[in-house]
Amino acid sequence: MGTKKTRESKQAKQKTPTFLLELPLQVEAGQAKRIRGHLEAGRAFYNAVLSEGQRRLRQMRADAAWQAARAIPRTHKQERQAAFSALRGQYGFSKYALHAYAKQARVSWIAEHLDAVLAQTLATRAYQALNRVCVGEARRVRFKSRGRGLSSIENKRNDTGLRFVLHKPEEGKQGFLVWKDDQLAALIDWNDPVVKYGLDHRIKYARLIQRKGSSPKAQGADVEGFCYFVQLALEGVPYHKPKHAVGTDILGADLGPSTIALVPQQADASLEVFAEELAPDEKQIRRLQRKMDRQRRAANPDNYDEKGRIRSACGKKKLHWKSSKTYENTRRRKATKERKLAAHRQSLHGQKVHEIVAVGSTVIIEKSSSKAWQKQYGRSVGLRAPGMFIKMLRRTVASTGGTLLEVPTRTTKLSQFCHGCGKTLKKPLAQRWHQCACGVGPVQRDLYAAFLAAYLDPADPIPSCAQYVIPWEGAEARLRRAHERVQQRANEGQSLPRSMGHARARARRPESRSEPTQEPAFLLRRGRLEAWKER
Ligand SMILES: [Zn+2]
Repeated sequence: MGTKKTRESKQAKQKTPTFLLELPLQVEAGQAKRIRGHLEAGRAFYNAVLSEGQRRLRQMRADAAWQAARAIPRTHKQERQAAFSALRGQYGFSKYALHAYAKQARVSWIAEHLDAVLAQTLATRAYQALNRVCVGEARRVRFKSRGRGLSSIENKRNDTGLRFVLHKPEEGKQGFLVWKDDQLAALIDWNDPVVKYGLDHRIKYARLIQRKGSSPKAQGADVEGFCYFVQLALEGVPYHKPKHAVGTDILGADLGPSTIALVPQQADASLEVFAEELAPDEKQIRRLQRKMDRQRRAANPDNYDEKGRIRSACGKKKLHWKSSKTYENTRRRKATKERKLAAHRQSLHGQKVHEIVAVGSTVIIEKSSSKAWQKQYGRSVGLRAPGMFIKMLRRTVASTGGTLLEVPTRTTKLSQFCHGCGKTLKKPLAQRWHQCACGVGPVQRDLYAAFLAAYLDPADPIPSCAQYVIPWEGAEARLRRAHERVQQRANEGQSLPRSMGHARARARRPESRSEPTQEPAFLLRRGRLEAWKER
C-alpha cells in the first residue's frame, strides 16, 4: 500500500493539461457487431462492480462507527478523516479495493471482451459514482440498463488495449482505433487546423463513444442506428483559432436568466436576449413532447383515470407501460432534436464568448447563484444554461491571459446601488429602470448594473460614488444608445422579453409607478394570505 501511495502522489505531481479531440470512426458491420459485444460485456462488468461497491457502502454506513465518525465535529479535521478512512479500509470501499475486486471478477467470457486496464477504468468509474453517494453529492447510483447500454469506454494509456495508432506520413498518415483484433479507421481531415493541431500532440489515452444516430439509416450508422467516435485525450492546451483576436478593454457584464448586458469601458454597450436563437428549437421539442404524451395515452388507456391523470399504482402492482413503434420513433426524433439543441447552444455560447474576448479579456460580473435561478426561472435557465456560459467564459478568458472577476452579489448589490447618492434600493423585478431622485437615470437596469461592474476596483469590489462620477459622463449616452438599439429592433418586429423594459414597458416606467399594474398582484397575495389564515 505504501508504495502505491507514493506512486500516486508522483503521478499527481506530473499532472499535465489535457484537451480533447473527437474524430468519427468508419465502422464496418462486422466490427460494429464486435464493438457492441465488447460494450455489452463492459456494461455487465460495470454493473457487477457497482453492485459490489454498493453492498460495501451500505455495510459501512450501517456500522455504528460510521455514525460515530459523522458525529466528530468538522473542526477536528484530522480525527474525522482518520475515522472515515479506517472505515473505508475495513469495508474495502476505496478505488484500489474495487480495482482488486475488478481483477478477480474479470473472468470467463468477460475477460475475452475486456482488457485488464479497461476493467480498471470501469471500476474507477463505478467507484466515483458510489463515492458521490458516500460524500452526499448524489442520492443514488444508476445501473446501466440493457436498453441504454454503456455508451463510452476509455483506456488509461495509449500503449496497450484500446488505443489510437497514427501511421507515419510515409505510410499515409491514417489513424486507427485499435481494439482487440479490430482496426477502426478514423476520418481525419488534415486540412482542418483543429484536427492537425490536436494530432501533433501526445495522446494520453483514447475513449470510444457510441451515439445513437438520428435514425437507423443515418449516415455512418450501424444496423442498430449507432454511430461511433473516438475521443483522444491529448497533452497540452486546446487550439486557438487565429481569427479570435483578443481585445484590451475591460468589460462589465450583467447576466440575467434570459438577458445579457455588456458595458465595456471604451467600446459600445449592448443589451441582448441571451441565446435568443434557441427558442424555436425548444418549441419543436415541446411539440414532440406533447406528441409523445398523446401516443403514450393512446397505447395505454388503462393507465389513466377518468380525469386523464396517471393512475397511482394500487397495491404492489406496478403500472405496465407499452410503447408503440410510432412512440419510439417520436422519442428518437426528440432525442436528436435535444442533442442538436445542446450543440446549437454550445456554439451560441462560444460565439458570445469570443465576441466578448474580442473586446477585452478582463470581465467583471456579479456572481449569481445558478441554483436560485433554476428555482425561479426553471425553463429559461434550463434552455439557455447561463451557468455553462459562465464556465466557458471563465475558461476562454483564462486561456487568453485575462481574468474573469466574479464579485459577490451580497456585498456589491449592483442591481440596487445608485452612484449618484450612494443609496441601495431594492427594485421589484418588474421595474426595469433605474431612476433615482438624485438625478441619475432613467437607464435600463441591466445596462446600469453592467456599467457599475465595468468600473469596479478588482482589489476592493465595493462600489463607491466617487469612482463613478467621471465614467458616468461618457457612459450615460452609450447606455442610452444601447437601449435605443433594443427598441429599434423591437420596432422592426423582433419579440423581446419584458425584462428589456420595452414590450408593454410603458406601465413599468418609473414615472407611472403608481399605475394600477402592480395592484392586482398585491391584492392577490393578500387574498391568498387571508385564505391561508382562515384555514
Ligand atoms: Zn441616487
